[in-house]
Amino acid sequence: MRGGWWRLILTALIVYLIANLVLSYFDQANEPTISYTEFSKQVNDGNVDKIYAKGDSIQGQLKKERKNPDGGEYTKFNTERPSFADDDLWANLTKHQVNVTAEPVVQHRSFLSNLLLSLAPMLLLIAVWVFIARRMSAGLGGAGGMLGRKAPPKPVELVPGEKRTTFDDVAGIDEVEGELNDVVDFLKNPDAYRRMGAKMPRGVLLAGPPGTGKTLLARAVAGEAGVPFFSASASEFIEMIVGVGASRVRELFAEARKVAPSIIFIDEIDTIGRARGGGASVGGHDEREQTLNQILTEMDGFSGSEGVIVIAATNRADILDPALTRPGRFDRVVQVSPPDRGGREAILEIHTRDIPLAADVDLAQVARTTPGMTGAELANLANEAALLAVKRKQQQVTPADLSEALEKIQLGAERALVMPEEERRRTAYHESGHALLGMLQPGADPVRKITIVPRGRALGVTLSTPDADKYAYTEEYLRGRIIGALGGMAAEHVVYDVITTGSESDLEQVTNIARGMVSRWGMSEQVGRLSALPNDAQQAYGLAAAPQTLDVIDAEMRRIVDECYEEACRKLRDHRGQLDALARALLESETLEEADAYRIAGITRLTKGSDA
Ligand code: ADP
Ligand code: MG
Ligand code: ZN
Repeated sequence: MRGGWWRLILTALIVYLIANLVLSYFDQANEPTISYTEFSKQVNDGNVDKIYAKGDSIQGQLKKERKNPDGGEYTKFNTERPSFADDDLWANLTKHQVNVTAEPVVQHRSFLSNLLLSLAPMLLLIAVWVFIARRMSAGLGGAGGMLGRKAPPKPVELVPGEKRTTFDDVAGIDEVEGELNDVVDFLKNPDAYRRMGAKMPRGVLLAGPPGTGKTLLARAVAGEAGVPFFSASASEFIEMIVGVGASRVRELFAEARKVAPSIIFIDEIDTIGRARGGGASVGGHDEREQTLNQILTEMDGFSGSEGVIVIAATNRADILDPALTRPGRFDRVVQVSPPDRGGREAILEIHTRDIPLAADVDLAQVARTTPGMTGAELANLANEAALLAVKRKQQQVTPADLSEALEKIQLGAERALVMPEEERRRTAYHESGHALLGMLQPGADPVRKITIVPRGRALGVTLSTPDADKYAYTEEYLRGRIIGALGGMAAEHVVYDVITTGSESDLEQVTNIARGMVSRWGMSEQVGRLSALPNDAQQAYGLAAAPQTLDVIDAEMRRIVDECYEEACRKLRDHRGQLDALARALLESETLEEADAYRIAGITRLTKGSDA
């Protein structure tokens, strides 16, 4: 809303300035002001035709055009007679037969046009006001708004002949589907529920990381039930003018009720559903709050049998206003997690339905090598592979296309960058450091690929992924991760005794792991078993812990990272031969695959049952 006021003030200012400019142009343009000396001279020369005097101000006209000493030519003029001027002007004027009148010499505008001109800024201001007021009333649902009026929300209706999203398009999150089946059932035959006096939840909140299929699920529920689906992103409600968001919400619910049973889907509800109150919300949040309140009010207003179900999605269930998850509102919170191995395979199958696959493509194998990837990433993987196949003029997508697409997604796109030889060597050692420590560390994720081809923002990449999905991590594993991440920096230190900027993202990773270990996962004796820092990097530091605790956290993080760095350097010195071998091989072939990397380093990989 503050933006609104500023804009108004700015507009008024500009209008005022322009009007002033125009007015002053009309007033002055033709009548230059000349000095009184110049005027006296003209009188003495007998060149003044007539004048009009009021007080000491003189307006007049010359007989012949003259050059103004201050620049320009003039015949008409203004001048001011200094009060101390001791000349006998009257006598002088009569002597030179100047016509002196009480009427303005220069044609003046009529009284009416003067009035109009002086009123112009006011009129413009009023026009601006009216314009804004109309916009507001338009937003508030008043009739006949002229600008900024949005059409009433329209559902994604059943278009005959067009296939709607159903549960067949969703895979890997069966338990979530199960929870939503009730909802589908209710929407399909609300009467059965009504007869039993059973009430359905008014709202379902889908919570989970981005790309796990929340939006897809909401669509699928509507498709399964065959009901109209109203979709809105919460950020659409937030407008410049307070009250518009709330009125949009009202409109949305009204439309949905008209065609009930139906589904309203509000995506990214955390943008308006953040916990209210607190010091952070001084001004500027009224719109958000009003919108949120309106949603809550509308949900309270349901009798439960109206058959409108609200599904909301969020990536950040932890920061939501508790009022949202109270009974009678979004009382069903459904967690949507990234898929497991079987789920990934099923998702890949869905997204390769329309892609011709070569006979030797093994989606189960692809699923094994993609732990942690979400549905959206897998869909992207399938598409990238298909794009590659088209580019290569193939008839089918081959395993090579898939692995290259995976590489692109996991490592970033290759960058054509000519690196100086010295930097290439340093990068080779940096990546070899990461890789070697990853291979030496028992229980660490196996190294899948090492490359010194610049990709994305990185000059080189070492990719390690677990054999099977992991859900919890041991302290030893996390230390191994820190040691591996510090391996690049340590290698540069051990080999060249320099520190470069190339370790920035490594250090970020290290810091995150160390902070988690110390402040949230109870892995530091000093800090103890408490969650001392919120699981939210954006939140201000230290809201949860005493300053002393923060000091201890800091010291403990440092201790862990320092110990790990020591160990990384020691291991690299001890295994310098293997490090050199890896770096040499990398410089030669730029990219090393898993098998080659382990062979060159002379390490036998301990394959634990490589199936999840
Ligand atoms: P979210 O809303 O959770 O961020 P989306 O629903 O927008 O994720 O997912 C984006 C795309 O990823 C979907 O359109 C779909 O193609 C794919 N996708 C994600 N999860 C799944 C899944 N479980 N099954 C099938 N496809 C999925
Ligand atoms: Mg989404
Ligand atoms: Zn690195």
